[in-house]
Amino acid sequence: MDVHEYQAKEILSGFGVEVPPGALAYSPEQAAYRARELGGDKWVVKAQVHAGGRGKAGGVKLCDSDHAIQEACESMFGRKLVTHQTGPEGKGIYRVYVEAAVPIEREFYLGLVMDRSSQRVMIVASAEGGMEIEEISAEKPDSIVRSTVEPAVGLQDFQAREIAFELGIEPGLVSQVVRTLQGCYRAFSELDATMVEINPLVVTGDDRVIALDAKMTFDYNALFRHPQISELRDKSQEDPRESRAADRGLSYVGLDGNIGCIVNGAGLAMATMDTIMLAGGAPANFLDIGGGATPERVAKAFRLVMSDKNVQAVLVNIFAGINRCDWVAEGLVQALNEVQVDVPVIARLAGTNVEEGQRILSKSGLPIIRAGTLMEAAERAVVAWQNDLTQATRMRAVK
Ligand code: GDP
Ligand code: MN
Repeated sequence: MDVHEYQAKEILSGFGVEVPPGALAYSPEQAAYRARELGGDKWVVKAQVHAGGRGKAGGVKLCDSDHAIQEACESMFGRKLVTHQTGPEGKGIYRVYVEAAVPIEREFYLGLVMDRSSQRVMIVASAEGGMEIEEISAEKPDSIVRSTVEPAVGLQDFQAREIAFELGIEPGLVSQVVRTLQGCYRAFSELDATMVEINPLVVTGDDRVIALDAKMTFDYNALFRHPQISELRDKSQEDPRESRAADRGLSYVGLDGNIGCIVNGAGLAMATMDTIMLAGGAPANFLDIGGGATPERVAKAFRLVMSDKNVQAVLVNIFAGINRCDWVAEGLVQALNEVQVDVPVIARLAGTNVEEGQRILSKSGLPIIRAGTLMEAAERAVVAWQNDLTQATRMRAVK
């Protein structure tokens, strides 16, 4: 789960990371008022969206007057900010963060991620701040400092000092960098984060080390341990299809293709998507309905998949191990009678009681296209989708 920059900053500041003074606003007037409260004569107005790259997209504006703040806000509120991380549809701006501007002397990149190969938290840093890490690794790979943390002992001060030295931090500022690294690591591990990124971490003209930007992502599966973090969820920043699914306890990821997928088990769902691609189609979603595919869950899944207007065929792939195909078939029939499904449905059932399941499907009289193997199912789904396309084209031509 992602959180906003201002939320990440508040969290990190609780762990000793220094951030600029700032305040949140929901309107241009409030933003100007917040700036007056903060004092000073230069401020930065920052669109709060769950994406980076805001600076280049007009989502971060340096202002030196009340008027400039209002103007910056007018250009943000109610708009969608499109950055290279949001996708073409962009993300809505409903909150801005107003901060006292910081005089930047040097910019650094700092990130903490889970490194799967070493199974440790990895600290990634570079003296080439201000650029995205992808750019840094493409253009200045040698500037990247990597260091993994031994979980049993946590981040050691000497290790943090080593990172600071490798970044070329002057001796007088090392202790501040160590405090920042320690704060980020403690926030990461204590709050079950999967990513902490400060880009840029800056050194100011008056020798302070400040997190100018902050991004945090949390592990969904650990949110139950951190109610104060789950409260920070902002559905306006999520794919509406995915929020709906999460609210219904289904694990769904929206994709760009046209073949909807309803599958039990994450691995089988991945294999189903691969097979659809192999057969020349493209999946509209990843969806794992879980092990106990009850009629209610199957119906919920159909509603969710059909709410995506791009879906032109639905592939149901159920492997019944603990489950039973006859139950799943009954669920399928019930769901198709309940939910309006006006695209071809392809079903592949395998496992326990498969014959009984097939009998239920044929007896139902529903136009379900059946398949014996996953490859067959994928091929039929692709054919059904292509036929549907030609029909749609034909109908448009007639009109
Ligand atoms: P991002 O583009 O979404 O990563 O947003 P950032 O918070 O990183 O801001 C983008 C850029 O705006 C930064 O890299 C800085 O160069 C600049 N910026 C942000 N805050 C300040 C500030 O307080 N002072 C100055 N001088 N520049 C700032
Ligand atoms: Mn940034």
